[in-house]
Amino acid sequence: MKGLGVSAGIALTWSYSLHSRDNHIEKKTAEDIEAELARCSAAREKAIQRLADRVDAAKGSIGESGDEIFEAQMLMLKDVFLWDEVSNQIRDAGASAQWAFSCAVDSRIEKLSQVDDEYLRERVLDLRDVKAQILEAMLDDSEEDRREIPEIGGIILFGREITPSQLLHFSLDIIKGLVMEEGGPTSHTVLLAKSLGIPCIVGALGSLEMASREKRAYIDGQTGEIVFSPDEELTERYNAYILEKTERSRLLEAFRGKATVTKDGRRIGLLCNIGLPEEAPLVIKADGEGVGLFRSELSMISMKHMPTEDEQFALYAQTVTQLKGRPLTVRTLDIGGDKPTEYLPMEREPNPYLGVRGIRFCLANPEIFMAQLAAILRAGMLGPVNVMLPMITAVSELREVKSLLELVEKDLCSRGVPFAAHLPLGIMIEVPSAAVMADVLIREADFFSIGTNDLTQYLCAADRGNAKTAALNNTCNPAVLRVIRSVVREAALAGKPVSICGQSAADPLLVPLWIAMGVTELSVVPPCVLELRKLISGIDVSLWAELLDRIMALSGADEVIDLLKLASSGAIFDII
Ligand code: PEP
Ligand code: MG
Repeated sequence: MKGLGVSAGIALTWSYSLHSRDNHIEKKTAEDIEAELARCSAAREKAIQRLADRVDAAKGSIGESGDEIFEAQMLMLKDVFLWDEVSNQIRDAGASAQWAFSCAVDSRIEKLSQVDDEYLRERVLDLRDVKAQILEAMLDDSEEDRREIPEIGGIILFGREITPSQLLHFSLDIIKGLVMEEGGPTSHTVLLAKSLGIPCIVGALGSLEMASREKRAYIDGQTGEIVFSPDEELTERYNAYILEKTERSRLLEAFRGKATVTKDGRRIGLLCNIGLPEEAPLVIKADGEGVGLFRSELSMISMKHMPTEDEQFALYAQTVTQLKGRPLTVRTLDIGGDKPTEYLPMEREPNPYLGVRGIRFCLANPEIFMAQLAAILRAGMLGPVNVMLPMITAVSELREVKSLLELVEKDLCSRGVPFAAHLPLGIMIEVPSAAVMADVLIREADFFSIGTNDLTQYLCAADRGNAKTAALNNTCNPAVLRVIRSVVREAALAGKPVSICGQSAADPLLVPLWIAMGVTELSVVPPCVLELRKLISGIDVSLWAELLDRIMALSGADEVIDLLKLASSGAIFDII
């Protein structure tokens, strides 16, 4: 089976499917009522036993939140009202066990989805999971138990679409791989997977069904290959990969603690993208020079309520302190688009990617935004902190933020709360209009960070989260490269830093091009730091600078990729 590999690495371990059996009702009516009732109670007992075994096996590795989820699920599995309703449906309406159970759970799901209470609404996810477990137990006639959570080796998580908060329900160290039937290469779950160095595949249609049948799977996050019940040959391939990975890491150690410098002496900042305070130690471990992008919304979406100013301060304080003097660039809330957050006052929009997302949401909700700004300024007392604004479309938004920042500073003064005034304020260049107006914006911003994930999707009008538009969503499109080049040029002319923080910052084919354009910093997921430092040490900027015009004159992404490959191999420099 094949999907689109979006986060490199190989995993071979137990498969674990989320909501696997949702749509597999074999028949709606019962032929034998008593047999159907017996099937129900057998499935109930089986599911309870499986869940108990799973909790036991995973004890200590799924974290407190994992324990809580399973506890809540156990209560749902045992819910007598639910089972009474199911039995009545079978007896009175002659429904099949599967059908009666599905209807009973679905009506609860529907009711809960409408309740105006975050906690209850969140239980919908658990109910779906419980539904899948029971249906699975009903469908599974074999005695073999395919669904224990294994005690060792972790799991590969399979889902139709796995949300970041679903991912966070598990202790991250047991997740060895992710496979989704839907989703695109830069969805936030994928970004999280990359940051954690977890192999990930999207667009793998049919994998969820297979994963619920097969115990073990092999996945390659580079090629998108998925093999269930891997044979000995694959096991050997996996073992060889682990050996090679270990050897590679050993060689990269030579670059630890060194500055990031090109062959001809240009110094480049090599920072990290993270979304959770828990990732800050990964930055140190990876030898990142700081955090170039802290996606502040990621730590918030796993919470049940909007964190208060104090709670946010605690998040940023924890992060900056753990960075031990390295800079932390906090990007203010970037919700909307593919980052919905249940507790925030967001209206349903027909096209959320073009709606009230990022800075638009913040400016429309100044109390929420000002609490975040206050928390960031306060954290600025504990180490070098920069503020970065997402999704800026026009200079008026930047000006509005500056006025709000003044108000926040005044308020902190009047409350007597210590804070760092006048923190560097930069903007992300993700919207085409901002890219075109870079010369104007750079006069009023302290730095630029080019978000190539969004900039590419908006320039190419190709959804970054849709596997079907993945081929169009290509940063190597010369249109995207020309725009980026002009943005970098404006920042360079103004003598201000300009970084790339989209995932193309870590693309080995594009890195020399970014540097030749004049990008001063790259911000990448921690596992890429040493690899990139090594790569950069071999780049001769003057040679690459000569190539720039040629690349910009090419007519399509394929041509760009071919030329970049030729250049990376060194072959082209013998010709020019
Ligand atoms: C980007 O758009 O490139 C970016 C870094 O922001 P995000 O991926 O969080 O939207
Ligand atoms: Mg973005």
